[in-house]
Amino acid sequence: MSDEQGFSRWISGRAMECPTHLNEDRHHSGRRFARRVYLPRVIGLATGFFCVASVLVMQPLSGWWWLLLVANGFVWPHLAWQVADRAPDPTRAEIRNLLIDSCMGGVWIAVMGLNALPSALIVAMMGMNNMGCGGVKLFLYGLLLLICACTLTLGLIHIPLNLETMPSQVWICLPMLIVYPMYYGLVSYRTAVKLSEHKRRLMQLSTRDGMTGVYNRRHWEHLLHGEYDNCQRYQRSATLLLIDIDHFKSINDNFGHDVGDEAILAITEHLQLILRITDVVGRFGGDEFGVIMSGTSQESAIQAMVRVCEQLNTFRLPRAPQVVLRVSVGVAQFDRRMTSYREWLKAADLALYKAKNSGRGRIEAAA
Ligand code: GH3
Ligand code: MG
Repeated sequence: MSDEQGFSRWISGRAMECPTHLNEDRHHSGRRFARRVYLPRVIGLATGFFCVASVLVMQPLSGWWWLLLVANGFVWPHLAWQVADRAPDPTRAEIRNLLIDSCMGGVWIAVMGLNALPSALIVAMMGMNNMGCGGVKLFLYGLLLLICACTLTLGLIHIPLNLETMPSQVWICLPMLIVYPMYYGLVSYRTAVKLSEHKRRLMQLSTRDGMTGVYNRRHWEHLLHGEYDNCQRYQRSATLLLIDIDHFKSINDNFGHDVGDEAILAITEHLQLILRITDVVGRFGGDEFGVIMSGTSQESAIQAMVRVCEQLNTFRLPRAPQVVLRVSVGVAQFDRRMTSYREWLKAADLALYKAKNSGRGRIEAAA
């Protein structure tokens, strides 16, 4: 295995162990990566063409170098995109393209006789690309290739050194100096915006219940843990409620799961509309909900829940109007003697159990 293959494998290593259904995603993200590099390469190499050309006219070189320069500046960016887009592994192909860019950069630095400003610009552009696409490792790998290609070219075609940049060449280099970093900044900004949007969506997926949109059990318990810690530390009061729909199985059995789902959604809406916006509602699983009422006494929590039950009494499911939704509720106020949030939860669970055993449709407080 060559070093370059080794590097591509490093870049895509973890994904290679992915199951087949994830490989499709990987292929798409590889193509997106290649597309992200495409336009910066078009702009960078087109502006770079003029920088190199401004020095090349001073060098005693054959016409073939000019042909290579035109091909590198105006044909290669499109070819590179096509190659990566059609490759079985676009990420690996694009990394290879970036390394070819670095090699060619080294060749042009040599051909220009190490002319200061355009050479520095080429090193900066390659460095920016490689660092942005593959971090320090790709940057160092690209730099090494650039130095090797430069040394090799210098050794092969005895070009006179031409270190000093003339004022006219500085002017010709200005577009690359100004346009490329600005465009690269824009691409980075867009990528950062997309990443933060993905992060927001992932957060949503990991903390919310898919059907109702309220917090899922794991996150709700995490918030309960936080509430417990706050109450202990700042001597605050809070009340916890566990709510379970009565005879929910019979709704599912008699009217089907769709109507069961509607019942769950109706309970969620009632909780959200009638309780305070600061009350933290979570779906505890199945037909069970949890509510954390921060800074609320047990009596106030019960009053709020009575209002929810009264509204549910008059509410009818559109597809099962004969059903009256009833719930049993277990209430537990925070008590400083509790040693963990789990104990608090257990107290509410016992109260809910009591409500169920005492005939359902009731609100019971923990002993
Ligand atoms: P109880 O009065 O003792 O609470 O009786 P129940 O019939 O409500 O019994 P239980 O709370 O144990 O039933 C929960 C049922 O909820 C079991 C499961 O089939 C059903 N279920 C769980 N998740 C969903 C869901 O997302 N949609 C629907 N339609 N049903 C669900
Ligand atoms: Mg139930």
